[in-house]
Amino acid sequence: MKVLVINCGSSSLKYRLIETDNKSVICKGLCERIGIGGGHFKYEITGSDKGYEKDIEFPDHNVAVDALIKAITDPDTGVVADVSEIGAVGHRIVHGGDKFTEATLITPDVMDIIEECSDLAPLHNPANIQGIRSCLKVMPDTAMVGVFDTAFHQTLPEKAYLYGIPYECYEKYGIRKYGFHGMSHEYVSKETAAIMGKDIKDVKSIICHLGNGASITAVDGGKSVDTSMGYTPLDGIIMGTRCGSLDPEIVHALVEKTGKSLDDVMHILNFESGVYGLSGYMSSDMRDIRDAYREGNEAAIRAYDTYIYVIVKYIGSYMAVLGGADAITFTAGIGENSSSLRKHVCDRLKGLGVEIDDEANENGKGARLISREDSKVKVYTIPTDEEMSIALSTVEVLKKQGKA
Ligand code: ADP
Repeated sequence: MKVLVINCGSSSLKYRLIETDNKSVICKGLCERIGIGGGHFKYEITGSDKGYEKDIEFPDHNVAVDALIKAITDPDTGVVADVSEIGAVGHRIVHGGDKFTEATLITPDVMDIIEECSDLAPLHNPANIQGIRSCLKVMPDTAMVGVFDTAFHQTLPEKAYLYGIPYECYEKYGIRKYGFHGMSHEYVSKETAAIMGKDIKDVKSIICHLGNGASITAVDGGKSVDTSMGYTPLDGIIMGTRCGSLDPEIVHALVEKTGKSLDDVMHILNFESGVYGLSGYMSSDMRDIRDAYREGNEAAIRAYDTYIYVIVKYIGSYMAVLGGADAITFTAGIGENSSSLRKHVCDRLKGLGVEIDDEANENGKGARLISREDSKVKVYTIPTDEEMSIALSTVEVLKKQGKA
C-alpha cells in the first residue's frame, strides 16, 4: 500500500510517500516557512532526477498540502496518477496524552481528543491538527491515521510515570511522565530484536535516541517500561539546547537572580541550555563540540564530558530497572554517526559487561553489532526511521479495521 506520511510543524510540513509492501520510499520533501513568508518547496524522487525545489508562498498549511499533491500527481514529474492511489495518510501527532495507546484511525471524535491534548503540546498538536484538516480537504475519502509520539510509552508502569508530587496533580491536571520519540524507540527496539535473531518478547533493550532532541528508553519484551523524557520533551538527558532533568528550584532561582520572567527562563532552558549552554554558547551541534573537544578546547570538554556522563547514568539506571539488559542500541543523528561518542559511553560501562569492538564501531556502515563477541551486553547501532514506522503503523491500523 502507498502511504503518505505527514509530519506537520507550525511553519513546516515534511512529507514522504512510502510503498509499505517493500518498505521503500517513493518520494519525499518539505514545505518550509508556512505562514511566515519566503516559502520554499522541496521534492525528491527516489531514483529519478525529476525532483525539484522552488520558492512557493505558503500562506497556510492548505496551500502546502496542495503543492505537494500537485507535485506527486503531476503528469510529468509525479509518482502517482491520482490521489486515489494513496491508500492512507499517516500523520505524526506529538501528544496523545494518556488517551492513545496505539496508532488510531482519525474520526471526528478522535480529532476532538487530539485537540484536548493540545494544552500538553501547545506548539505541536495544533499544527498536527491543521495538517489533518488540510489533507482531508484534498483527500476527503482517504483514511487518515494518527501515530502518536507518546503512544509507545503508555505501557510505562505507574511507578515509572508518576512524579513525587501530590497525586491530585496527576488526577486533576494529568501531570505525569508521558515520554516522546515513541515511533523511533518502537521501530529501533523491534529492529534490535530482529538483528539479534530473537523474538522481541525475549529481549531487554536500552534504546539511546541521540539527536538534537534526545531520549533513552528501557524496553522489556517490546514494551517501554521507562523513558528519560517526561511531562514534556525538556526532561531527561542533556540535549543540543535543552537542559534535561534539573532541580525544579533552579527555575525559581534563575527568575530571582537574573530578573528575567518565567517565560524567559523557560526559553533559556529550552533553547540556550544543554550542550550549547554548557559549552559557553559554542554550538549545539555535536560535530562542532567533538572537533573542539579533540583540539583540547576546555568549554567543549566540559560540555562533552557532562553529556556523556548523563547518558551513562541513564543507561546504568535502566540496566537496574530491567534487571540487566541484553542490548544497548544507539540511534538518531549522534547515535548513528558518532563512533567516538559510542566508544566514550561504552568504555564507561565496562563494569556492567559492555565491551565495544573498536573495529566494528569505527569502520562498519548501517545497522550492525558493535560489541565484542565476549560482551555480556550486545551493543548495536541502528538507523532510526520514524517515517517508515509511521507508515507501517498506519497499515496495521487499516488491517485491524479490515481496510487493508
Ligand atoms: P533532530 O532530528 O533531533 O533534529 P538528528 O537526529 O538529525 O536531530 O541529529 C542531529 C545531531 O546529530 C546534531 O547534533 C549533529 O551534530 C549530529 N550528527 C550528525 N552527523 C554526525 C556525525 N557524523 N558525527 C557526530 N554527530 C553527528
